[in-house]
Amino acid sequence: MNPLVPIGSSLAAACAGLIAYGAVYPRAQLFGPTLCRTDSPRKLAITFDDGPNPAITPKLLALLEKHKARATFFVVGRYVHECPEILRETAARGHLIANHTQTHPNLFWMSAGAIHNELRQCLEAIGGALNSSAKWFRPPFGFRNPWVVKEATELGMRTVMWTLIPGDWTPQPPEKLIGNLQPIADHAQGASGSASSTGDILCLHDGGHRELNADRTHTLRALEHWLPRWRDAGLEFVTIEEAVGTPAT
Ligand SMILES: [Zn+2]
Repeated sequence: MNPLVPIGSSLAAACAGLIAYGAVYPRAQLFGPTLCRTDSPRKLAITFDDGPNPAITPKLLALLEKHKARATFFVVGRYVHECPEILRETAARGHLIANHTQTHPNLFWMSAGAIHNELRQCLEAIGGALNSSAKWFRPPFGFRNPWVVKEATELGMRTVMWTLIPGDWTPQPPEKLIGNLQPIADHAQGASGSASSTGDILCLHDGGHRELNADRTHTLRALEHWLPRWRDAGLEFVTIEEAVGTPAT
């Protein structure tokens, strides 16, 4: 038996494990720097992916307005082409618009050039609807390879991940999602007496990457439950822009 075979295969397994960690783990920095937290335990950055969505986004905007909460929307370029009015309304209400690619592919398997095109086309869609550019980017599924963050940087964008992703991308009872969001309040309450110096970036979904009009009613219901409670816990709702560099008020 060749003794090198098991060593070689375990080395290959270790490399594969490292690549998987860098590609998937939300706070891994192996494939380039990403923003994963806010700079204060009192700041909660709520983010929404995969919109704009005619079935949900307008209701979500009304809900956020009611609770005076601003958020960040990582939009899909092809949906922006279909619903530019919803994007304009989102921006007009003070929310931050960010890039989530043109067609929501898994970028892990794509070349630098193909990644560049996905990011640039979404920037153009946003620019066409808003006459302004996006400064922030989130990769679909959170998947990165060695070119993803680099291409985003070259297009003038910083890459954003999250501290909590509670799995709201499938229809589910609101109670389940409400339970999965409990760590935000736990962190806020623990933070006041601990040395924690950072706050959460929460990844939710107002759309679905497979089709328009995805049902995210459970996300609305869970936010109806939590927004007033998070505010009572002392949390301040910030955009990703405000999540870094602006003092908590
Ligand atoms: Zn997505």
